[in-house]
Amino acid sequence: MPDAILVIGGGVAGIHVALNAAEYGSKVYLTDDTPSIGGIMARLDKTFPTNDCSICIEAPRMYEVDNHENIEILTNTEVRRVSRKNGGFTVRLLKKAKFIDEEKCTGCGTCIQACPISVPDELDGKIGGTRKLVYMPFPQAVPSASVIDTRCRAGKMRGEGACIGGCVVDCSQCRECPIALCVKACQKEGKNAVLLWQSDKPMDIEVKSIVVATGLKPDDPETGLYGYNVYENVITNVQFERLMNAGGPTGGDIIRPSDKTHPHKIGWVQCAGRGLKEGGLPYCSKVCCMIAAKQTIITKEHRPDVDTVVFHNDLKAYGKGFWGFYKKAVEHGVRYVRAHPYDVCEDPETKNLIVKYEDLDTGEIHLEEFELLVLSMGLVPGERNKKLAKALGIELDGYGFFKEKDPLLHPLETHVEGIYLCGGATGPIDISESVIQASAAGLKAVSRNSEVVR
Ligand SMILES: Cc1cc2nc3c(=O)[nH]c(=O)nc-3n(C[C@H](O)[C@H](O)[C@H](O)COP(=O)(O)OP(=O)(O)OC[C@H]3O[C@@H](n4cnc5c(N)ncnc54)[C@H](O)[C@@H]3O)c2cc1C
Repeated sequence: MPDAILVIGGGVAGIHVALNAAEYGSKVYLTDDTPSIGGIMARLDKTFPTNDCSICIEAPRMYEVDNHENIEILTNTEVRRVSRKNGGFTVRLLKKAKFIDEEKCTGCGTCIQACPISVPDELDGKIGGTRKLVYMPFPQAVPSASVIDTRCRAGKMRGEGACIGGCVVDCSQCRECPIALCVKACQKEGKNAVLLWQSDKPMDIEVKSIVVATGLKPDDPETGLYGYNVYENVITNVQFERLMNAGGPTGGDIIRPSDKTHPHKIGWVQCAGRGLKEGGLPYCSKVCCMIAAKQTIITKEHRPDVDTVVFHNDLKAYGKGFWGFYKKAVEHGVRYVRAHPYDVCEDPETKNLIVKYEDLDTGEIHLEEFELLVLSMGLVPGERNKKLAKALGIELDGYGFFKEKDPLLHPLETHVEGIYLCGGATGPIDISESVIQASAAGLKAVSRNSEVVR
């Protein structure tokens, strides 16, 4: 039986499983169904409770993974079918085409410069971030290779001015594209890495254990929640995180969407999508209070004169150094108000937001005006969990996170022997807990492999 481990999900948790297991001598397949490993952490500005630069911590680990002789990274790759075999698993993967030869692409960006069409970036669109139809997911992406938007390759962006599409022959027959500017630019560099005829590739692997590290996703506010998607200057905490980030669409300049000016007064609404009405999140996501503390501290560090107010109900400061971190926000002049904000309207001239809230300590109703309002949204399971759980034959809990066999007696194990969990796949979690779980899940997988060797 091969001594191999499949890690599904290349966020900070999956990366740590892969590195730990590889150091113990296991062959590791690290898969992610997006074009790069890195997960959410790769898009954060700083990390609580130390406010260290997020990508500066994660990028070296990503490069380590990329260069480890025991680790094979498979991005843009989905798990399609899993069957049990001799105490291990045979796994059918599907590597979806990036229309780029990853071996030949050096990430030089010439193809990106040549592409004539910009579209809103999936993450940063609301705050003005764009990307080309051929793009790098983010500057430190691993693998460091471009990817072509499938809509472009399918000719669907031709009407928007894209150069690809509308041909009489299919790319698979015409292998030297005479019209695609990205192809020509890459050829001029002498690399020939753009392969418009590349197809999805199935791949079968045999592994002894599987670790699910598929993470979570920030909840999307429904239209109208505290004016979201109705008023321009209501954004989410993820969008605010990207505004603060030097690698984000504004280069770290905290400006508001409506007029690109620096807001002088910013409010945070904690538990924004939580249990307010049917469809609200029924659980606490643990990390949002510390995310708000981080974002207010960094805002004050950028510009100390900005007035920052956090509307909260409870305060969750559960980890080492977290209470001190909240205190640090207060020392920076952040005003915490125990309140229930229940209505937001916009001044049509200034585009400022007027928040109506009940002060939970006094019971009084107040109106307060802000230039920018940030909704602290919770963390929810990824929508791909269902499909993956079915393929793996493991269970999800009532919320849609992967279910542990027994959180006390068999933590991080599932009902299927040899399949383990870690990080956000198990529920809302911070980075340090994700890494701790990753070490534990990785060791469980490695020791299962060693049992077979013995
Ligand atoms: C705005 C914001 C700020 C935050 N700030 C902090 C902070 O300052 N400090 C802190 O400790 N924590 C912070 N967190 C929490 C932190 O992001 C998480 O703890 C961490 O990302 C969890 O890591 P993970 O690897 O489990 O999941 P993720 O980062 O979600 O990575 C999961 C990976 O799995 C991939 N994947 C998903 N489904 C599949 C599938 N079916 N097949 C293949 N691959 C799949 C995804 O593409 C992704 O790459 C923040 C979160 C948010 C939203």
